[in-house]
Amino acid sequence: MRKIDKANSRQVKRGEEPVAWQVLIAELRGLLATCKSDPEKNEVAREFFDRLNKQNLRDQLRNDQRGLCAFCECEITRQSAVEDRRAGIRIAHWLPIHKDPEGAVRWSNLFASCPGGPYGDSCDAAQGDADLKIETPAERNHAIFMEFGSDGSLTIPDQSILRDAAERLNLMPRPEEEGQPEDGKRESPHRLTEARAAAITGTRKRLEKKFPERTASRDVLLKWWSDVNQGQTATPHPSAVMAWLKRQADRR
Ligand SMILES: [Zn+2]
Repeated sequence: MRKIDKANSRQVKRGEEPVAWQVLIAELRGLLATCKSDPEKNEVAREFFDRLNKQNLRDQLRNDQRGLCAFCECEITRQSAVEDRRAGIRIAHWLPIHKDPEGAVRWSNLFASCPGGPYGDSCDAAQGDADLKIETPAERNHAIFMEFGSDGSLTIPDQSILRDAAERLNLMPRPEEEGQPEDGKRESPHRLTEARAAAITGTRKRLEKKFPERTASRDVLLKWWSDVNQGQTATPHPSAVMAWLKRQADRR
């Protein structure tokens, strides 16, 4: 889960008509002010969000995130989830609508999420209506609190982040599941851990092809790190790949 730079001024298509984001928020705020109860606010905000042109919104969120899921950092395709449940982009509300009705269309609360998390549910679906305790990736770079191993494993020493990452977002096996036999419901080993390992292997192979016999210098490794960081190399699971590149550089 890396830092995501969210541009401030956005336009989204409501039906066919493009509307500035601020106009949209003002409109929803006005509607919410007329509501008499929290359930009514929840319903009004959901309906308002549902009426937006989702393809346009998905494209904008995906661009902000350089094509990667905000939670697990896998590549998300442009296809809409409606066309194929196993492909495309979901739109995740960091704070669920029932907790923050205005957040239904607040740009900083919206993130593009993948449809295929480690247990077959999307990162968004895995979150469900849970209220994430950690700040959004637009506010804070969570990757610096995450330690990625060369085998794709993830450890999080900070307990406040661990709970959201393990129990709400399925970014790593839940602690009690480790070493347990497959129960038919959940896949073992953890699919996301394997995907991160594959991304590291892909980078290692590309590096070895260009610089055989470990001839890549520290400067080369740091350049590769920087290219992944800035999105100049389209790499899924960049946090895990960057951690690996940094370790290689430190050994030179
Ligand atoms: Zn994901």
